[in-house]
Amino acid sequence: MSEARPPRVGPAEEPHTWRPTRFMVIAAHPDDADFGPAATAARWIDEGSVGWLVCCTSGDQGGEDAELDPLELAATREREQQAAAAVVGYEGVTFLHQPDGALVNDLNLREQLVREIRRFRPDAVLAQDPETLFHADRGVNHTDHRAAGIAAADAVYPASRNPMAFPWLVREGLAPHRVHRLYLFWSEKANARVDVSATIDRKFDALRAHASQLQDFDRVEGWIRPWMAEEGQKIGVAAADTFRVIVIDEDEGPEPETTDEAEAVAEASGQA
Ligand SMILES: [Zn+2]
Repeated sequence: MSEARPPRVGPAEEPHTWRPTRFMVIAAHPDDADFGPAATAARWIDEGSVGWLVCCTSGDQGGEDAELDPLELAATREREQQAAAAVVGYEGVTFLHQPDGALVNDLNLREQLVREIRRFRPDAVLAQDPETLFHADRGVNHTDHRAAGIAAADAVYPASRNPMAFPWLVREGLAPHRVHRLYLFWSEKANARVDVSATIDRKFDALRAHASQLQDFDRVEGWIRPWMAEEGQKIGVAAADTFRVIVIDEDEGPEPETTDEAEAVAEASGQA
């Protein structure tokens, strides 16, 4: 490529206003989506978007007690996440039941994610930034967060839109689907801020549902609120979520699903 193309996301010092009609949050653990983009999800849902949440694991290692039954913990955390998702307003939650602490971006996980994406057909996928290995100089990003993020990116592009990836899915009726945008959260390379002043309280209501994980809720709220206020200040609002937005397809124009892919689908199902 010889010509520099204009950035597609918009200036980072202004509120980011693009909104998907349908969006999917893909996260490693129950509670990640609520620590992550819950306030943005709540805002978009209030404004008419439809959201779905996918949890790769059920958080069965999320305890400090070696005697704890991991299956029991997983069941508890799924209940907590369902309650939190109801607060945010997601249409539903899928648990992929991958092992906590051992999530791997393999073909099995990719197929699971492609199934979810092709079934729900989101315009945007929100996921953990897989490039975040360290949180500045303050810690290591959990291996599952990185694995979930890279798996989400690989599922979005090219697998979901490619009819020849997992070809049995087309035969099952799961047609290829183009996700236009990735919204990566917990990124060190944020390029967009969403005004969530109106929905930040819903985020904390959702977080409160994760009782097994939050022994000291006030302390958690006490560090997240000032941080979101600080990000909000940068765009002149009370509170903001930050994202690294990747625009894969331009928003304008008709859906490109009428050409090659549709033919491939028709061919695969014996209609061409
Ligand atoms: Zn997590």
